Amino acid sequence: MSTTDTAIASAEAHSAHNYHPLPVVVASADGAWMTDVEGRRYLDMLAGYSALNFGHRNRRLIDAAKAQLERVTLTSRAFHHDRFAEFCTQLAELCGMEMVLPMNTGAEAVETAVKTARKWGYRVKGVPDGMAKIIVATDNFHGRTTTIVSFSTDHEARDDFGPYTPGFEIVPYGDLTALSEAMTENTVAVLMEPIQGEAGVLVPPPGYLAGVREMTRERNVLFVADEIQSGLGRTGRTFACEHEGVVPDMYVLGKALGGGVVPVSAVVSSAAVLGVYRPGEHGSTFGGNPLACAVALEVVAMLRTGEFQQRAAELGDHLHHELGLLTGGDAVRAVRGRGLWAGVDISPALGTGREISEKLMDRGVLVKDTHGSTIRIAPPLVISKEDLDWGLEQLRGVLAD
Ligand SMILES: *Cc1c(COP(=O)(O)O)cnc(C)c1O
Repeated sequence: MSTTDTAIASAEAHSAHNYHPLPVVVASADGAWMTDVEGRRYLDMLAGYSALNFGHRNRRLIDAAKAQLERVTLTSRAFHHDRFAEFCTQLAELCGMEMVLPMNTGAEAVETAVKTARKWGYRVKGVPDGMAKIIVATDNFHGRTTTIVSFSTDHEARDDFGPYTPGFEIVPYGDLTALSEAMTENTVAVLMEPIQGEAGVLVPPPGYLAGVREMTRERNVLFVADEIQSGLGRTGRTFACEHEGVVPDMYVLGKALGGGVVPVSAVVSSAAVLGVYRPGEHGSTFGGNPLACAVALEVVAMLRTGEFQQRAAELGDHLHHELGLLTGGDAVRAVRGRGLWAGVDISPALGTGREISEKLMDRGVLVKDTHGSTIRIAPPLVISKEDLDWGLEQLRGVLAD
């Protein structure tokens, strides 16, 4: 057996099969490229679902991590540490907000947003105890905890994990009338992705996010934007909400915030909202640890230059122009997305998304399929135009075969 086959067989024997990875075993990576255990190189066109927006082992981020590793890595929140205040201040400023509540994974940040909205509902809005409702969208993806899968519409994510957490109302994504009808006096928040990544990079109809903003403001409901995948440069702006000039009440951030080095997530909001917490009411042993803060601070500094957003916008225009040339034929049914982010619906006649992904892998390009015959393209924002063109060339090759 090859080194690759041995590693995969061993992984399959000793790990739960909650993923179905492509048959590639990565040993090292740099920038937009990964190298497997047999020395083959692959262009990473997935970027860890946007966790690797700045590429693999970005020099600035690795240096920041190394420097922090030599000082202090973990304190717990029982004590202050000297990177915490700076991280919270800088991240709040980047978001145009006032306060930060740091966690680790995206799902924890979404849980934090849910808890925050509920507490705000009871303490500030005056919703009767136990009655708070949060409205979410069909085809959402917000993570994998029991509460979060309780409001998923994806059977794979949800089935067999009940009993489910109550207090959520699901409305069709993109439908403002349905949203308006679902709102009651007990609605505390609308939780949505400004672009639905897992659903296949679904961009809502023009005016939808602005409509959600207006409606939530009028009804004293929090607009919580899950920008875990869409935020931090991916769409050509710092936040996907910006494309509609929308500022939500709460950003939920993760993935790229950890720079591809450590898991870092956060809820960022106003003092009126995050100010509802008192000591002991919420927390995390690792949330806001010194290593996480040092890396995320560097991420924030990099985003403040605007260069990554600009790259994503420029390369994204190029990507969507090139993908646009593929649509209309027999092979590609539709292309969606914004910035350096695209969902490409391949004609089922050419194979499943998985089969297309495997053929791309054989040509040295790594992507991920989602829902049937859709593949998702989201390379690191540091990818060169030449490499991006090479990756697109491989896609054209697979579609032509
Ligand atoms: C990935 C993701 C999450 C969950 O993040 P984890 O770090 O995997 O828990 C939540 N929301 C969105 C939009 C995501 O893309």
